[in-house]
Parts: sequence; C-alpha cells; structure tokens
Amino acid sequence: MATMGYSAEDELLIGREFDELMAHCKKICKREGDEELIRRAFELAKLAHQGVKRRSGEPYIMHPIAVARICVDEIGLGVKSVVASLLHDVVEDTDYTLTDISTMFSPKIASMVDGLTKISSATSAETSEQIESFRKVLLTLLDDVRVILIKIADRLHNMRTLSAMPPEKRIRISSETMYLFAPLAYRLGLFIVKSELEDLSFRYMHPDQYAEIEQKIAATSVRRKEFIDRFNAPIIEKLRSVGIDFEISGRVKSAYSIWNKMRKKQIPFEEVYDLFAVRIVFKPTPIVPEKTQCWHIYELVTDIYASNPDRLRDWINNPKANGYEALHTTVMVPSEEGEGTWVEVQIRSERMNDIDEHGLASHWKHKYTPEEVSATDINFDVWLKNIREALSSPTDNAVDFLDNFQRSLYTSEIVVFTPKGEIRKLPTGSTVLDFAYDIHSKLGAKAIGAKVNHTMASIYDELHNGDQVDILTSEGVNPTLEWLDHVITAKAKQAIKNFLKRYRQNNIERGMTQFETRMQELGITPSARVFRKVLPAYGCKTKDEFYSKLGAEMFSLENIQEILRQNSAMKLLKFWTFFVKDKDDDDNFTQNQSGSIEDDRSQFDVAECCTPIPGDDVTGYKDPKTGRIIVHKTTCHELRRLAAQRGKNLVKNIQWSSYKEVSYLTVIEIQGIDRMGMLLDLSQVITGQHNINIRELKLQSHDGIFEGYISIYVPNTEDLAKVINRIKQIKGIERVTRRENSVENG
Ligand code: MN
Repeated sequence: MATMGYSAEDELLIGREFDELMAHCKKICKREGDEELIRRAFELAKLAHQGVKRRSGEPYIMHPIAVARICVDEIGLGVKSVVASLLHDVVEDTDYTLTDISTMFSPKIASMVDGLTKISSATSAETSEQIESFRKVLLTLLDDVRVILIKIADRLHNMRTLSAMPPEKRIRISSETMYLFAPLAYRLGLFIVKSELEDLSFRYMHPDQYAEIEQKIAATSVRRKEFIDRFNAPIIEKLRSVGIDFEISGRVKSAYSIWNKMRKKQIPFEEVYDLFAVRIVFKPTPIVPEKTQCWHIYELVTDIYASNPDRLRDWINNPKANGYEALHTTVMVPSEEGEGTWVEVQIRSERMNDIDEHGLASHWKHKYTPEEVSATDINFDVWLKNIREALSSPTDNAVDFLDNFQRSLYTSEIVVFTPKGEIRKLPTGSTVLDFAYDIHSKLGAKAIGAKVNHTMASIYDELHNGDQVDILTSEGVNPTLEWLDHVITAKAKQAIKNFLKRYRQNNIERGMTQFETRMQELGITPSARVFRKVLPAYGCKTKDEFYSKLGAEMFSLENIQEILRQNSAMKLLKFWTFFVKDKDDDDNFTQNQSGSIEDDRSQFDVAECCTPIPGDDVTGYKDPKTGRIIVHKTTCHELRRLAAQRGKNLVKNIQWSSYKEVSYLTVIEIQGIDRMGMLLDLSQVITGQHNINIRELKLQSHDGIFEGYISIYVPNTEDLAKVINRIKQIKGIERVTRRENSVENG
C-alpha cells in the first residue's frame, strides 16, 4: 500500500495540508485535468518521501506541499510550477529518476525538476569548480524563470523552518540566503519575499540585534499608530472628497532594513527617521491613464504637506529594472516643538502594488493594456539577455563571476541614449567604455573617446541619467589591462579579458618566432640552460611571460649575446674554510686537503663575537659540549676569557684555506611580516652558511608585509635545505619556498 509508511496521525496532518493547498489552487486550475495532475504529483511525492522526517519531526512531504503553497499564494505561479514544486526533491532524495517523472508527467515537468535538483547541489558550492557548474546551471535555468522562482520558494520555506537546524548550519544557510537568494528575489521583483528572506537571515545571523530592534519597534508602536492616523486623516478626507477609490496604510520597515540603515549611517534606532512609509493604493478609474492619476494624487498630498523635491522618486515614467512602478515623495509634517518629521508617501495603483508584492508572476497574470505590461517585460528581458551573455562567455575566475552576478542583481540603473535616440539601460556608475561594450564588443574594443551630449569625453568618464553618447573609434586602439579598472558591467569586463587573453596568445607566438630566429642566427640551441640565463635577465618568471613581453616589444634581443656570456647560472665559487696544520709535518697538509677536507670543513664555526675574515690571525677553541671548533681572531677578548678557563681546549695551529666548488643559481622566495632588521638577519643567516653566496636579494614591503626573493649559489640540495631551514627560523618569516624552475616545464 502506498501510504503504509505514515502513521494515522501523520496521514491526518498531510491530508489537511494538501486539502488546503488544493483549495488555494482552485483559481489556477483552469483546464480539465489540472487538479488531477496536482493530485498525482502529490501522491508520487508522498510515496517517494515516505518514512522520511524533517529535522522538525514533521513528515518530509510537508515541505514540498508548503513550497507549492508559497508558489501559488505568494509568487502567483501556475499549475506546472505547483506540480514541479511538489516533485522538487523527489529525484534528489529518492530512487525515482527524471525519466520516471518524464513518463509519469511530461518532459517539461521533468526538465523543471531537473533544474531544481541541479541548483540545490550547486549553491552549496565552495570550490571554483562548483561555482563553475553553478554558472552553467544558472544558464540553463534562465530558460525557464519559473525554476528560479520555485527555488526561491523552496529557500523561503527552509528559512521559515530554520530553527530546527543546528546553529552552524543556520549561519551558513542564512549567509547564502543573504548573498544570493534575497538579491535574486529582489531582481525578480518579489519584494515581500525578499524582505522576509532578509529578515529571517538577519535574525539567525545576528540574533541579539534582531531582538533589540523588534523590541523597540513594538515599544514605539502605539505612538507611531497615533502619528500615522493623525497624518493620514487630512489625506483621506481630501481624496474622498474628489471621489478617489483608495486604501491608505502606514507600514513599518523590516527589522533588517532598519538595522541596515543604522549600520550605514552609524546612527541609533531612535534617529532612523523613515521607520515607516505611508502607502496609498488606488483603484484606477477607466479612461484617465494610471500615470496621470498617480500625479493627481501626488498634487493633492503635496497641497496638504510640503514636499522635498530632492526626494521625489518617479518610477512611473522609468520603472525600476525589476519592474517596480510607483511614485515616492517625502513630505514634511510640522510639529509644535519646532523640528518637523519627514514621512515617505508611496503612490501606486492596484496593479503596480500587485507587481511590487508578487513580482514577475503578476506581469503574466495581469491583463491590463498591452503597453503597460510590455514596458516592464522588456526591462526584464534586457536583464535576462545581459545575464545570459555574461554567463555564456567563458571566464577564468568563477568566483569573480559569481560576485559579478550577485552585484548585477542589486545595481540600480541609469538610462542613456544612442545618437539615434535609442534607449540603453546600464548599471549606475557605468562609463563610456561600458556603454560602447554594451552596444557591441567590437565597438568597445576600438573606442578612443566619446561625445557625451555633444561634448568630448574620455572613455573612462562616468555616464549619467539622460546622457546621449556617441562613441568615437580608432583602428589603432586596443584594450589594455587598465581598461578593466574603468568598467563595471560584466559584459565589458569579460570582453576585455577575452581580448587580452587572445592578444597575449598572439604575442607569445610572435615572441617565440622572434626568439627562435635570433637563436638560429647565433647558432645557439635554446636549451634549458639558455633560459635559466635569459629569463632572469629580462625579469621574467616563465617562458610564456618572456615570449609575450618580447612579442609585445616590451624589450628587444639586442644584447642577448652578452647576457648569454655573463651571469651564469652555474659557477665555480671560491669558499674559505680552515684547516688544522699538523705541527710536525707541513707536507701532511696536502694529504689532508685531498683526503678528508669535506669532513674537516664542517667542524668549524666562525665565532660570532669577533667574526674573523680571511687573512686574520686565528685561533680555535674546541667547544667541550659539541666538539666543534669555534674560530676566533687571535686577539679576541672572549677567546682570552675562554683560554683562561680552559686552556687545554684551545686549537692553536689553525690556518685559513680556500677551496672551489661548483655552485648553482637557485632562487628562494620568501614572505613574511616586515620588521626592522629583517634584511640584516636574512643576509647574516645566509652568509653564515659557509658555502652559500648571495647573488641578489630583493625585498618589497607593503602594508607591513614583505615579499621577495634571494638568488643564491648553492653547491647541492642539502646545503639549500639547510639555508631554507635557517631562514624559516627567523622571526617574522612566514613562507620560504624554492622557486620551481619554470624553464624546463614552462
Ligand atoms: Mn526543498
């Protein structure tokens, strides 16, 4: 039996919840079989999820039912979406496959469920690979906006029931909601859902602040209600007297938006002046356009209260990109105590209000005049198109992409014009370059300047609302790295990056040919050893860098012969050490040297007190603990002190000796916290190692951190390891690594 997994009590609960869903679906079930379809989806989901409980203890099926309810009631979606939301977790969590869904329902439903399944695993992405897959998922999702809307409904229900989750999960889910889902809801025009998502996230991320604000809102509610009633009274009287059918309400802003304002302006709760807004929603009369009626009400209100023209927001002639339409004005309420209070008044028609509350779904639902619907739909289509373009071009950095996408959800827009008067919408802060790229990436790539409102402007100049922009081009222009700092749209960024990448590749090829030709002329085979000399000489780390800089004519190969001659990566270096002269037989010296000099060398240390250099008269002192011979200047005071205590440990017949060793140039990269004396400590540690020679030491410090490299000559890896170890012990050093030789594997 299909329902064996549920207790009688659960059956009752589920049945009641589903009946309610069906009651609410009545209004969307217009075709025959619609109700049957929803019922079948419910039965399948119930069967598939049986035996599974949510963390709250409820049967799992309660979740898909709740999501379906949100889709119908709060987002205004239709039958297919209800079916898909009932099935949204079936493929992910149970044994049923997409093929099953496709045969039992339809390929369309299956593809919606597929989208919902994919996105749930993609948003928990942590690696860039996962984000890359998220990008691809979004791209497919955008073909059917309903899938995103259902996903938002899913998230909303999960947020509403988040208290059942363990605390660390609450934080993670809340941050993700704040980062991605709230902006997405905003962008899709779901204002109420967006506010609730933000408030819920805020509550779990900052429980104390949330509680404090809620408490203060409650504490001031009586006084506020009185104020609003007093404020509304003359408006109500006036509007009624001219026969306008309307409703007026004063609503408090959400806890999150109040907190946001406190944080942004660094003010206490008491100083947030626009805690609430008064909203007038009117039923338009036929014949007179909605717009005109909005302005009429605006006039009536501003006849009563003085308005601040700087704070007038006209989203009727210029709807927000997410479809929002309304007229906002801020008016002054005089008070006896002198300082008045500013109150925001929002004026909108019932249709505008519905769109504000329920977002895009209302666009499809409402059948008002075609012009009204199409204006907002076009806005949304433009956004979708831009996102699609940004998504479909390849990116190097998936994290960048996600950030760009996220930002694109919130940006406000400006309207600018082409020379022919065509409207383009761009995010606020866009530059001439953004505009050029928005029109075409080829136009962007050749832009050299513009005429903005018939006046010359640079490609970096920021555009403003209403600007008319005529791009000037030149064949000699090419995008540069600097351009990236002067564009904000994802489209322009991507196009510039793509160009630079291609450009670099071309340069690499050109540089490679140049180099090979030159080598041939000189009769040199470009071996690894050649690169080991050439790369550092031109300040390049990799072959690619070398070729691309050469190809871009950043340097020439004029003096390459000289470079190859000098500056060898391998050297015979002269080192100094000591030897103990046999008292009796001077001839033994030669034998000693050829015999065990390697061992001898390692038993000497240079005394730190007097640091003798080759040529000084020296005397050794054998450390009784380590058995090593410390070599002092013969005149050293410390040595005298030691001699007085333990005269028998002195080693008198010590002499300087030199030897030669093949050494190889190696580069060590270091990073750490900058402090006084770092350079000194570094050079001392390295030169303290007898057979290491510094060729170059470069440190760069910024913001208390330094980075740099040391090129040294070392005879073998053992000595290199010793140096690296000793550098690591220096206070402040964070990282020491040997630069991998990019020459062989470049
Ligand atoms: Mn779910």
